[in-house]
Parts: sequence; structure tokens; C-alpha cells
Amino acid sequence: MAEKPFIIAGGGIGGLAAALGLAKAGKHSLVLEQAERLGEIGAGIQIAPNAFNCFDFLGIGGALRENAVYIDRLRLMDALSGEEICHIPLDEDFRERFGNPYAVVHRADLHLALLRHAVPAERWKCEPATRFAATGRMKIPFLSRLRTVMRSKEPL
Ligand SMILES: Cc1cc2nc3c(=O)[nH]c(=O)nc-3n(C[C@H](O)[C@H](O)[C@H](O)COP(=O)(O)OP(=O)(O)OC[C@H]3O[C@@H](n4cnc5c(N)ncnc54)[C@H](O)[C@@H]3O)c2cc1C
Repeated sequence: MAEKPFIIAGGGIGGLAAALGLAKAGKHSLVLEQAERLGEIGAGIQIAPNAFNCFDFLGIGGALRENAVYIDRLRLMDALSGEEICHIPLDEDFRERFGNPYAVVHRADLHLALLRHAVPAERWKCEPATRFAATGRMKIPFLSRLRTVMRSKEPL
């Protein structure tokens, strides 16, 4: 029996990371994304050391490090007084202790890194402009389209 793909709702950071992780494990997946086109808007996203561990596992850690901005410290500020409450140094000691840096990358760079590494895996496919509906019992829209994909002998 042909392998049925994993269905992933949403082609954001989580969905693409899941598709990439499944592909690495030799599994097929179908990402249903409501947007017309895959892409990421937004600004910077902070990447903590544990996230770098995950991205290294997925094979995109190096690409992210190249474009990352390495900040010196995390500062928590009082919104009313504007005074610093405390700060966490993100220096060499921090990196050594947690095994990875704390950095900021552009969201688009993260999304693109996930996309570019997911595509060559040839084990996932994305259906843009497809809205996943979950109301009460889980329903998958465009069921006939999915059935066609699942019955198809072609790889996803
Ligand atoms: C302002 C802001 C700043 C943040 N800063 C940081 C930070 O610095 N560091 C950090 O680690 N995290 C940060 N986060 C959190 C981080 O963005 C999220 O944890 C992460 O994006 C979650 O990934 P996701 O795939 O679950 O969701 P998303 O990346 O939002 O992706 C969800 C995707 O699902 C699609 N979708 C939604 N509903 C459906 C549907 N019914 N059918 C089909 N597709 C659907 C959407 O179009 C979207 O593409 C921030 C979040 C915000 C809002």
C-alpha cells in the first residue's frame, strides 16, 4: 500500500520545520497553507540557543548563523519609567554554557532557509491557497483533491 502523507496545516515556521523533519525521517507530507503564496513577512525573530539546536538538526543552522545579528545582552526594561530592570549578558560565557549563541535573524531568512532545505528533500509538497478546516471533528477540505494525491502513484 502506498505511503499516505502526513497532513500539515499551515506553511509557517512550525509547518515547514515539521515537513523538513518528516522528510529527514523519510516520511512524505502535504502542507496546506491558506496564503496564496508561501512567504514570510515581519521583522526580526530572536533565536535562542535551544532553537539553534533544532535548526542544526534540520540542517539550516549554518545558513541562519551567516545572516544572524549577534546581540550583546538581553535587557528587560520598565515600560513606564524606561529604566532597566535587569539584563542577561550573551557573551562567550553564555555561548559556552548553552552551546549556541542567542541571535536575531530576519523572519524571511528563517522562512527561506526552511523552504530551500525542504524543497530538495522531494518528500513534501505544499498546496498554497488551501485552508485547513477543523471544526468539532476534524475535517479536511478539498477532500477529493487530497484523495487524488494520496491515490496517485507519483511521489508527492
Ligand atoms: C510579534 C511577534 C514576535 C515574535 N517574536 C518571536 C521571537 O523573537 N522569537 C521566537 O522564537 N518567537 C517569536 N514569536 C513567535 C513565533 O513567531 C511563533 O512561535 C511561530 O511563528 C509559530 O510558528 P507556527 O508555524 O505555529 O505559526 P506561523 O509561523 O504563524 O504560521 C502559521 C501558518 O499557518 C497558516 N494558517 C493558519 N490557519 C490556517 C488554516 N486554517 N489553513 C491553512 N493554513 C493556515 C498561516 O497562513 C501561516 O502561514 C513572535 C510572534 C509574534 C506575533
